Amino acid sequence: MRLKPFYRKTWAEIDLTALKDNVRHMKQHIGEDVHLMAVVKANAYGHGDAQVAKAALAEGASILAVAFLDEAISLRGQGIKAPILVLGAVPPEYAHIAAEYRITVTAYSVGWVKEALGFLSDDETALDIHLKIDTGMGRIGCRTEEEIKEIMELAKASGKINCRGVFTHFATADEKETDYFRMQLERFKKLIKSLPLDRLMVHSSNSAAGLRFKEQLFNAVRFGIGMYGLSPSPEIKDELPFPLQEVFSLQTELAHVKKIEKGESVSYGATYTAEHDQWIGTVPVGYADGWMRKLAGSEVLIDGKRQKIAGRICMDQFMIALDQEYPVGTKVTLIGKQKDESISVDEIAERLQTINYEITCMISSRVPRMFLENERIIGVRNPILPNDKE
Ligand SMILES: *Cc1c(COP(=O)(O)O)cnc(C)c1O
Repeated sequence: MRLKPFYRKTWAEIDLTALKDNVRHMKQHIGEDVHLMAVVKANAYGHGDAQVAKAALAEGASILAVAFLDEAISLRGQGIKAPILVLGAVPPEYAHIAAEYRITVTAYSVGWVKEALGFLSDDETALDIHLKIDTGMGRIGCRTEEEIKEIMELAKASGKINCRGVFTHFATADEKETDYFRMQLERFKKLIKSLPLDRLMVHSSNSAAGLRFKEQLFNAVRFGIGMYGLSPSPEIKDELPFPLQEVFSLQTELAHVKKIEKGESVSYGATYTAEHDQWIGTVPVGYADGWMRKLAGSEVLIDGKRQKIAGRICMDQFMIALDQEYPVGTKVTLIGKQKDESISVDEIAERLQTINYEITCMISSRVPRMFLENERIIGVRNPILPNDKE
């Protein structure tokens, strides 16, 4: 593993032991003969794609999934040799690039297949595809039996495209109400009936479906958010078959501590004014790191206690109203545990009126990722430094 240093006192800790536990439990849950596809798109939901991929593969994942071809090629560049499926739309003119890197792509319309064929030559490696069926998500995918048949025939006749899988995606698998989910499942079953299913990887489940239901497992599950220890939605938390362990935490340190007098103000706009003499701490993290301005007034952990952000969050720093004096260098936890107190990804999501998926994704690449296994640092990834220190 490439060990890159970092020279700032803000970092995300990625607990690969927790991640491995989540993957192992999921693998036990779905069973030996169902493939676990580890979804590592968006830099593994902000966690670090290659490190997460390796950890998941070590615990029984047999294939990886990303959203874009670039992400797949980046994984190849980081030494990942396992099968990779690109779930999103790859422009057909790059079909030969995918083939060259042995990356499986999603075929989602007759037009896509016809165009892609024009960019694949007979003497190059054939392109592997999974056929995407739109059963109600309305995003990408074929919607009729005719389209599916035509794609299968085009692929077979060309000799340049091999269909290795077929899949769909649920729009409501994380909701209590299951009618729409069942409608999609029935559509999928009907549309794939005439395909040679024993020779294909057949998958429909994301984390929510894979954790809650068994009848739609087919022979593979796409496991994303659950792998990172987060519930697909608050409303199905009580249905999870095993406890998930959060993988992501966000740490910084007090860079400056000072006393301000009653009536003095802090940060842009001078919106925060001290009501009494008080200690103010400054941390080196801001909205350019993904700690959004909307989080002004929310809390962080210091010495196991909640403390409030004072004033506006700046691009690279923010201030905290401290309950007492703390030395410079004191650890400040933005997401994670300290003693008996914790701030979860879900808490930040609720505060921002969004979903937990968005929170780990929004922590920008300026924040180094530090990988831990059994509480020992086993790697660091800091893409903003040059790559010269191996
Ligand atoms: C992102 C994605 C997943 C993973 O979903 P989770 O809810 O994170 O498990 C699965 N399938 C497709 C098509 C996706 O785009």
